[in-house]
Amino acid sequence: MSKRDYYDVLGVRRGAGAPEIRRAYRQLARQYSPDINLWDDRADGLFDEIAEAYRILGDPATRSLYDRLGHQAFEPPREGAADRAARGEDLHYPIEIEFEQALRGVPVVTEAARLEPCAVCDATGGAGGRRVVRCRVCQGRPVRIVVGNGELPVAARCEACRGAGWQVPEPCPACSGRGTVLRQFRLSVAIPPGVDTGAQIRVSGEGHAAPAPGVRGDLVVITRVRPHAFFTRKGDNLYCEVPITVPEAALGARIQIPTPDAAAMVTIPAGTQSGQIFRIRGKGCSRLDRGGRGDLLVVTRVVIPRNADSTLEEVLRTLQRLLPENPRAELWGRRGA
Ligand SMILES: [Zn+2]
Ligand SMILES: [Zn+2]
Repeated sequence: MSKRDYYDVLGVRRGAGAPEIRRAYRQLARQYSPDINLWDDRADGLFDEIAEAYRILGDPATRSLYDRLGHQAFEPPREGAADRAARGEDLHYPIEIEFEQALRGVPVVTEAARLEPCAVCDATGGAGGRRVVRCRVCQGRPVRIVVGNGELPVAARCEACRGAGWQVPEPCPACSGRGTVLRQFRLSVAIPPGVDTGAQIRVSGEGHAAPAPGVRGDLVVITRVRPHAFFTRKGDNLYCEVPITVPEAALGARIQIPTPDAAAMVTIPAGTQSGQIFRIRGKGCSRLDRGGRGDLLVVTRVVIPRNADSTLEEVLRTLQRLLPENPRAELWGRRGA
């Protein structure tokens, strides 16, 4: 089980003043005193937790160390302890890429400031690379609880470590005791084909460093894809609107259309309507999860001439005579309305 935050244990804010912390401790200590709660095993554990939290937060030196490094500050590295080690923060890196780059994939160079292990102290945070070690005098058990007759339990502190249980080295001057320093870094990241806006590409172990013996967080590249002039995307499918002339729509035609790869020829059948959709399989987006590609959906738009000259007008009037039917008749459920 992971340790609770000491501030949570005492129920105080991180910025709480020393008197507030002392008050919180005294109240909790009274409430959970093993002297009062003889019948309750849980109170015993709680009391130890409360006493430990106050041991750290009640002393400005250990409190500032705890604020910097958390529980880890008081857990000297041991063999096989790597899985309990602190993990650095993930580094979030937003990028903007072109539509085509998102379709095909693209290498991008990320460049940012990230926390690196401090070389001066070997990421320990202690001057000269010294680590926090258990107090040799009290072997890390600096407080003996002396319980009086129904009185508030009294804590007797080890003098050698001032009750901390640890010997805390001076902070490393290069990193102010943090164990890490901010440095600029560059890394090329391969954006896979098929990413959309909001995709997160996680590069394991390339985020911020943590103090020793911590491990790095991840670099998380978040994509925003710029819109395309004529392709739009819905899932893995691409849509594009293709204008066709009245004769092409009426008579049918073979026309050239754009696809993400190259222009392609498609056959428009006679009698094609505006807004009709033709599916071209496998010419859409790469699928990030399943492999393969989505489809390209071509939406036709019949272009009506705006300024008909006298010859064209004559043709259109002829067309009108040839098509006397009212196409809106069905809207009223009868013909010829
Ligand atoms: Zn350092
Ligand atoms: Zn001690």
